[in-house]
Amino acid sequence: MEKLEHIGIAVKNLEEANQLFARLLGKPHYKIEEVASEGVKTSFFEIGGVKIELLEASTPDSPIARFIEKRGEGIHHLAFEVKDIAKRIAEYAENGFTPLNPQPKAGADNKKICFLHPKTTGGVLIELCEENQ
Ligand code: ZN
Repeated sequence: MEKLEHIGIAVKNLEEANQLFARLLGKPHYKIEEVASEGVKTSFFEIGGVKIELLEASTPDSPIARFIEKRGEGIHHLAFEVKDIAKRIAEYAENGFTPLNPQPKAGADNKKICFLHPKTTGGVLIELCEENQ
């Protein structure tokens, strides 16, 4: 892994959370992006080179809706930047981790992404991400 790229936080109401995090971080979000394939609407803040990704469910059966139902709002995942993500996914699978998708898929913020199942990562949902070239 190259670095912590962002921290994903599940929220019920993106507009309210945007205001809260703007007050908390002292700067506004710099973009909003919907990822229809994942059932999420996201917004991004940047602070000291690390991003905060707020995630609101855009459909009732979105993984974010299910997460909030079970665990409430809060930290949803940690995302680490990797190089050559397809190869990394195969390596993690070989090393006892459980990628949720065998091939990279499209994420927010111009990224290819893959999640590792939290059962295999100490209870923390981990996202691998790589910027599209
Ligand atoms: Zn993310």
